[in-house]
Amino acid sequence: MLRRSDLPNRSESVINMPKIAWKTGTSYGRRDAWSIGFNNNYTVGIWCGNFDGKGVPELNGADIATPLLLQIFNAIGKKNTEKDWFKKPKDLQYRWVCAESGNVPNDYCTDKIMALYIPGKSPNKKCEHQKKVWVNADSSISYCASCLPNVGYIEKLYPNYPPELVQYFETNNLPYIKIPSHNLLCSKVQENNEPKIIKPVNGLTYYINQKDKQELMLVAQAANDVKMVSWYINNQFIKTEEKNKPVFIVPTLGKLKISCTDDKGRNSNCWIEVKIL
Ligand SMILES: [Zn+2]
Ligand SMILES: [Zn+2]
Repeated sequence: MLRRSDLPNRSESVINMPKIAWKTGTSYGRRDAWSIGFNNNYTVGIWCGNFDGKGVPELNGADIATPLLLQIFNAIGKKNTEKDWFKKPKDLQYRWVCAESGNVPNDYCTDKIMALYIPGKSPNKKCEHQKKVWVNADSSISYCASCLPNVGYIEKLYPNYPPELVQYFETNNLPYIKIPSHNLLCSKVQENNEPKIIKPVNGLTYYINQKDKQELMLVAQAANDVKMVSWYINNQFIKTEEKNKPVFIVPTLGKLKISCTDDKGRNSNCWIEVKIL
């Protein structure tokens, strides 16, 4: 039998396991333990925590909230049988997806699993969990179409991490498979390679506590050929910092244009609004 990782540790609560679908959750700082479950008769939501929001190390959804959820389901209803469980809708079908991304497999996706989907409704996005990059023989330099030499290059697959993840690896000095630095002899400043502003998130409204002079973190992920990036708020220069290093500002209220320019002159902007909490 497949054992879910969020089954409660205390095994007595799994005896007389009711047939339900459920999901647990634990908040940052162990302040809330959630478990929400349903069958075709009832939906039950459990929250455990302190009313003043104080965190408790032992507080987590699986061990604290789920045993209660299972007990409540056992107490409120007759035991569900397979017969009165949900029927699979007729328009649901199975297809192969990439186990890494859950998307439609690309030719390089070797780890495939079967998953349910709704034809015509579920996204048909092709998997991009890897990307093809031209590199030199010892994989120390990468090329683009404009600087690709006639001979001596190979095509290699690299993990296509989202910028947030690359930024996390970099700031925490975690090893990861990196695309080699771009060819220094490349005359073309790479297009579409401007810094990506990861924080703040474009279009969001940020609520700050003005009493505490709450700071806002600015982080960008820049291309391999970049060392330093400069930050601007409403076109006013703020600071130049090593790429991937966060910069903290005390924001003014209202609409802010945040710009990040790399040392190759490539720029990107994002717009946010700052309001008082
Ligand atoms: Zn894939
Ligand atoms: Zn190039």
